[in-house]
Amino acid sequence: MKSHIPRKRFGQNFLHDTQVIQAIISAIAPKSKQHIVEIGPGTGALTRPLLESNCQLDVIELDRDLIENLKKLQLRIFNKDVLKFDFKELMTTDLPLRIVGNLPYNISTPLLFHLLKYQDDIMDMTFMLQKEVVDRMIAAPASSEYGRLSVMLQYHCQIEKLFDVSPDAFTPAPKVDSSIVQLIPYSEPPVMINDHKYFVRLVTSAFAQRRKTLRNNLKNLLDITDIEAAGINPQARAETLTLQQFAQLANYEKT
Ligand code: SAM
Repeated sequence: MKSHIPRKRFGQNFLHDTQVIQAIISAIAPKSKQHIVEIGPGTGALTRPLLESNCQLDVIELDRDLIENLKKLQLRIFNKDVLKFDFKELMTTDLPLRIVGNLPYNISTPLLFHLLKYQDDIMDMTFMLQKEVVDRMIAAPASSEYGRLSVMLQYHCQIEKLFDVSPDAFTPAPKVDSSIVQLIPYSEPPVMINDHKYFVRLVTSAFAQRRKTLRNNLKNLLDITDIEAAGINPQARAETLTLQQFAQLANYEKT
């Protein structure tokens, strides 16, 4: 391939460390008769070893300049923005999707939320992300990393951090550490939520201003007596609440 100058605006940090690449492929454990979707294949560091498994592979890549080289491989290419991509488009068989990728860090949070819309069609997701984002995804209540991302993702998926990757595994080296994380969407959510839209609104409002109490942050949704009647202390901060307690608040119905 003629040399490609990495584009910062597309979050291009290409993997070159073969041990790291091998460890990621082992974590994914691709098999034939599986439908794998790689987000941001770039110059193909993960794409080529994925293909060795004979899996069915689709790739979504925004940078037009990287497409020509990918055309030589046995895969379907979608030259599109993954944030606007309709994953239903890929569901040409009954096989659930296994989504993987060394993600562009600048879009990781909106991308995770976009993918949750398709969770019924997804078997699992294995991603390289900024370590700090992975720490927020898996954070437990009462820790400084715990927030909206932790609550929303832990409601939808079982999440496991697999290992960290240092900046020198990439060209160019990013300024931050990275981690590999695996997400498995739940078929049954760990808590029951009556109205999902309201749950999203409530969690977002609860964390709107981290230093403020629930009483303040939830002012437009619930008053003190409602919060107490739901069994929650109105003086508490959102970062201390478990997923179960968020469900209690979201399911509380005013009488
Ligand atoms: N997989 C390659 C690797 O590991 O070396 C490249 C990873 S690089 C961190 C991220 C890739 O995502 C780049 O190829 C970039 O062009 C692509 N990308 C960035 N934004 C994208 C978007 N919105 N939709 C699809 N691909 C995107």
